Amino acid sequence: MLLDIVKKMIRVTKGMTEDRIATIDASKEFVHHSDMFRGKHEVDYETCTGCDACNKICPVNAIVMKPLPLKKPNKIPEVNLAVCIFCGLCEDVCPVKPKAIKLSGGDFNMRAGGKHEAQDNFWVKVDVPEDWIEKKKEEEKIKAEAAAKKRAEMAAKKKAEAKEENNG
Ligand code: SF4
Ligand code: SF4
Repeated sequence: MLLDIVKKMIRVTKGMTEDRIATIDASKEFVHHSDMFRGKHEVDYETCTGCDACNKICPVNAIVMKPLPLKKPNKIPEVNLAVCIFCGLCEDVCPVKPKAIKLSGGDFNMRAGGKHEAQDNFWVKVDVPEDWIEKKKEEEKIKAEAAAKKRAEMAAKKKAEAKEENNG
């Protein structure tokens, strides 16, 4: 018993005092190597409709819908990887083809930006370019104007038909 303790103390002291040279940079080694590994999410803001289905189905509330100043999509999913359990339901339920949210599969790099980075920063963020938003806004405006014009034409046509009926 005493001998075991002494041996252990010698081993620990040796481990603490001996110069040891690292041969592998463990921070660059990926934990997962399985073919089944699902990887972190990729979100395509150009095809997402903001339908909210991925957010609603997420069993652990790992998704937060980021608001956008558009009619469609008016919001887009961002994922908290510290909470996500990588079940893949968000990808399964996405109605868009090809999927607007998917687990990237081959991307093994699941590290946060820095060694001491808080888990709260471990997110899949979606940066939607300002010029794309402006382009979409313009498209939506043109569409809304065309729809309003069509509605006005229909109303005028109905009014004319009603007038004709009354006169006849
Ligand atoms: S993989 Fe599962 S847990 Fe992770 S965000 Fe998607 S639905 Fe939520
Ligand atoms: S990623 Fe898919 S399911 Fe999620 S909001 Fe966009 S379209 Fe809907």
